[in-house]
Amino acid sequence: MPRMIGKICVVTGAARGIGLSIAAHFHDEGGSVILTDIDRAAGAAAARTIGCHFEPLDVREEVDWARLAERIPIADVVVNNAGITGFEHGGGPHDPEHASLADWRAVHAVNLDGTFLGCRYAIGAMKQQGTGSIINISSRSGLVGIPLAAAYAASKAAIRNHTKSVALYCAQQGWRIRCNSIHPAAILTPIWEPMLGTGPDREDRMQALVADTPLKRFGQPDEVAAIAVLLASDEATYITGTELNIDGGLLAGSAATPG
Ligand code: NDP
Repeated sequence: MPRMIGKICVVTGAARGIGLSIAAHFHDEGGSVILTDIDRAAGAAAARTIGCHFEPLDVREEVDWARLAERIPIADVVVNNAGITGFEHGGGPHDPEHASLADWRAVHAVNLDGTFLGCRYAIGAMKQQGTGSIINISSRSGLVGIPLAAAYAASKAAIRNHTKSVALYCAQQGWRIRCNSIHPAAILTPIWEPMLGTGPDREDRMQALVADTPLKRFGQPDEVAAIAVLLASDEATYITGTELNIDGGLLAGSAATPG
């Protein structure tokens, strides 16, 4: 039985990568999907491929969310997926000593402000019916420190915490609006391209990046989408304020053994 029949599902940053896969899975499960992205051309093309609706949305912009609320006033599922590392266009260092305030703010504007605005939109679009599922895409980086990507890690940690505030707030209001975070690590999407490059050492870099991952490979967007379907579905009606890691075992412990 398809698990998303009758559900209106909004997914941000869904022109590619994890968001695209989540949108496709929701559609395959019978959901009415509103695919959104900052990139109009890529978003519209992705929506055509899936056979769903597209709305342009820059998650940083309050006015974009207000327009979405006018056009899509009711939603059952909202996935706050859009996110950046800050390394998309090269850019300066992101360590705590040398990062610029502008770079720090740029990462937080998409990852954290975007998720705050997305949760606020979701509550407004769900509270009339008093039920719904908000899914925030955090990261393994939101659970541990990342010295050379400090803004990304801090923004993802804040998403984890805000998820719990939203979950508790909605429960206090007596709504069955759930809010949970997903914490992926090393999922092979275009977000990695600036770090992998196209040179002959690409394969070596890929291997190095998953050397500490117990399953010794990158994850696939579909593997994250499967978790999103579970959290969005009526099989997860008792899950709220929680965090689900999907990381090939990376956070399970340390490979270091006592001598
Ligand atoms: P991608 O870079 O492949 O896709 C992100 C999408 O978000 C792109 O289509 C991008 O558009 C869009 N986007 C960027 N900025 C905005 C904005 N301001 N408003 C709306 N859309 C925007 O990333 P992934 O699919 O890999 O990542 C998806 C989420 O998963 C992110 O939040 C990421 O942090 C998180 N994540 C990913 C991991 C991984 O290993 N891939 C691991 C942990 C977490 P454009 O291309 O035009 O910039």
